[in-house]
Amino acid sequence: MKRVSRFIFASMSRKVRVRFAPSPTGGLHLGGVRTVLYNYLFAKKYKGDFIVRIEDTDQSRYVPGAEEYIFDTLKWCGMIPDESVQHGGDFGPYRQSERKERYKQFALQLVNDGYAYYAFDTPEELEKMRQDLKTEHNPTPQYDHHIRMKMRNSLTLSSDETHKLLSDGERFVIRIKVPENDQLSFTDMIRGEVKFDTSTVDDKVLLKADGMPTYHLAVVVDDHQMQISHSFRGEEWLPSAPVHILLWKYLFGLENMPQWAHLPLILGPNGKLSKRDGAKYGFPVFAMNWTDPKTGETTEGFKEKGFLPEAFLNYLALLGWNDGSEQEIFSMEDLIERFSMERVHSAGAKFDYEKAKWFNHEWIKKSSNSFLLPQVKTLLETNGITIVDDTLLEKIIGLIKDRCTLLPDFVPQSSFFFQTPATIDADAIRPKWNEDKKKFFVAYSEKILNSEWNAVTLENMFKELATEKNIKPGELQLPFRIMLVGGKFGPPVFQIAEVLGKDETVKRIDGALKIF
Ligand code: GLU
Repeated sequence: MKRVSRFIFASMSRKVRVRFAPSPTGGLHLGGVRTVLYNYLFAKKYKGDFIVRIEDTDQSRYVPGAEEYIFDTLKWCGMIPDESVQHGGDFGPYRQSERKERYKQFALQLVNDGYAYYAFDTPEELEKMRQDLKTEHNPTPQYDHHIRMKMRNSLTLSSDETHKLLSDGERFVIRIKVPENDQLSFTDMIRGEVKFDTSTVDDKVLLKADGMPTYHLAVVVDDHQMQISHSFRGEEWLPSAPVHILLWKYLFGLENMPQWAHLPLILGPNGKLSKRDGAKYGFPVFAMNWTDPKTGETTEGFKEKGFLPEAFLNYLALLGWNDGSEQEIFSMEDLIERFSMERVHSAGAKFDYEKAKWFNHEWIKKSSNSFLLPQVKTLLETNGITIVDDTLLEKIIGLIKDRCTLLPDFVPQSSFFFQTPATIDADAIRPKWNEDKKKFFVAYSEKILNSEWNAVTLENMFKELATEKNIKPGELQLPFRIMLVGGKFGPPVFQIAEVLGKDETVKRIDGALKIF
């Protein structure tokens, strides 16, 4: 209760501005999309701004094409940013590599104020330190208050030596000087109060030798300059929070520090959900297909697998959140109304592909035929079926959508409406086939030639004729279905006949009779 009231106060006292801050390093994992979603829902709920900031300061991890992919994914999901590289805004640039100079100013300010220092250690010296100080209890020694005075930095060198190294163009980084034994805490919107002891925190690099900031410096400067009110990010960033709090304190006196929420992980069958899990268990992990430009390897996406974005987002929303009721199907409008960060669980949420498919099936069933039409039409056309009559296709969609879990299911479920089945499952019929049944179908096809053409009439005539010939109608329906569809599937058979039309129905009966 306490957490909720504090948050309401904060959100009302300040315009809500949230940001999704991806690093363009590859495809967007479903955990990333859920982070976007929670940001988006929160922004819309509080009539705030949803900002997308591209965090591309790590040149070694930059992957061409990844930024466009992120925006394409947001578009597919219908989560359109209010401000971004592509959408403009008053707080740009929205790409960190274009804000380089600003970070440097702040890093120098920290050095001048005694909160950070120049470090000149070479990679070899750092490695030597790690080897020398490595013990059984501390296998990976960190650059921290224990060792900083043993290294080559502006704390151990005289100011003349430091200036000389700087003017000689020696490579340097700027590190934060984390205080020893300080207690820090903040209130996470999901986890409540989180405390840290600074003696376990290392002197993180803030400005790298290439002049680029690290994430730690850039995130604090940008969240401040972009007036971000709430920062939602993956829980892997929780250990970095003390560094960020210190930077907020040293640079801005903690004024307007955003409220943080560290989102739980999405778990796969064996712990953290990885790209490899997708390949191993045969389900997508990325929002859309992603092709690695270096290897040419494509990782499958939910979009191409045949998910509706509505279903994908509905399931993602529930991976870690619920509204306290049993309701599972939520539209974006419902989610915006009901979502609250305080109801996000702190424990990891397990991804279940069967459940994801269940959501898609539900969404396909509840979508209108006209909404599904363009997507189904494109799918059929890529499978060589030309659609000339949209009204007819809409009708077919209505007949078969209950049977489709993923969008590509519409192809086998509907192609027999447009093409005579290439094969007929005659084996399913032969064991119970006999001359009487054959005579029935010959008579039926003659009879329907002059009849009114709708499913009800066709069914009535079928039943009457069966009674007349003393055959159970149930025994005739499967053969009839196989004649029209080719196999044991599809919607009610008389509705299929109605859509196929008189000539085609009679033609398929005749054709099948020759085979049986
Ligand atoms: N660039 C960071 C990431 O991709 C962003 C973390 C944050 O939202 O602050 O994980």
